[in-house]
Amino acid sequence: MLDVRKAAVRGLVMAGELKPLDLARFRPLLAGDEGRVAVKMTFSRDEEGRYLVDVAVEADFLAVCQRCLETMPERLSSESKLAVVWTDEEAASLPRYLDPLILQEDTCSLLELVEEELILAMKPFSYHDTGTCKRKTVSFFDPLVKEAVVEEKPNPFDVLEQLKPSNKH
Ligand SMILES: [Zn+2]
Repeated sequence: MLDVRKAAVRGLVMAGELKPLDLARFRPLLAGDEGRVAVKMTFSRDEEGRYLVDVAVEADFLAVCQRCLETMPERLSSESKLAVVWTDEEAASLPRYLDPLILQEDTCSLLELVEEELILAMKPFSYHDTGTCKRKTVSFFDPLVKEAVVEEKPNPFDVLEQLKPSNKH
């Protein structure tokens, strides 16, 4: 746990590398333990006296291709400028370029902060490039083409057909 206010006053910069296994909430979203997460956090104060945390993450990890269901390398990078606030009202009054980091106390878990950033930056689905994907044909059930499928209403005559007594004897 880190005292965010003290870190901001001191202008603390922290950089390091984590493994997926270090991140209990992020790891279950991945297809394997392999990978690395580079993190950089910069603590500062702005002219308004706010306590700011710049969080930058860059992650290489394993995901599952949703087309062929094979494991594939995936990468994400994300950067956020967070301002420490203690209430929802404070959060709502922040300028647009700042995201709120709502704290109950003065301390916060850096790992949780990193996990939050990673989870928000993750793509909902991963896919190989079409050239490397094992499955070349696009399935009806592929999430990518789902929107293009016109919803078919059941034909009322099909139902009548089923209700008719069989003519066969
Ligand atoms: Zn694939």
